[in-house]
Amino acid sequence: MNIPDSIEIKESNGKGLFAKRLIKKGSIVFHFDGKIGDDAHTNPESLQIDEDKFLESTAGFDNFLNHSCEPNCNIDWENLNLVALRNIQIGEELSFDYNTAEYDLINMVENCSFKCNCGSKNCIGKVKGFRYLTLEQKKEIQKFISPFLKKKFEQE
Ligand SMILES: [Zn+2]
Repeated sequence: MNIPDSIEIKESNGKGLFAKRLIKKGSIVFHFDGKIGDDAHTNPESLQIDEDKFLESTAGFDNFLNHSCEPNCNIDWENLNLVALRNIQIGEELSFDYNTAEYDLINMVENCSFKCNCGSKNCIGKVKGFRYLTLEQKKEIQKFISPFLKKKFEQE
């Protein structure tokens, strides 16, 4: 998976993806082209799309996409594209909300929850997965969550 011309990897808190040129609102930043499998084993780098559908980690640049509580990108789950939620300026870091993709980061093989440093005024502090959000927080991100999380949310 080759990194598109519009972005680059740079030091952030660890490494992150940064815009090299203006990325327009609504445009596709890149397509996640990892292998789709039905392996129930999940890790922070694989994306759970549905009950038994996982996008395996590519070990590519997409793994450097960091979390923000006020992200500038979201995932189009149907087409598996990363889409810009607003105009992203040159030099700005790209982010999406991990809680739209991860149900439970605590009860994994390893606890993968982490403290967020996004600095947004709506920062939730610790990122633990969709399961641990308040009902209000869940409703706020509902339209961006994966098909898997939608099912989980309906069951709650
Ligand atoms: Zn945050």
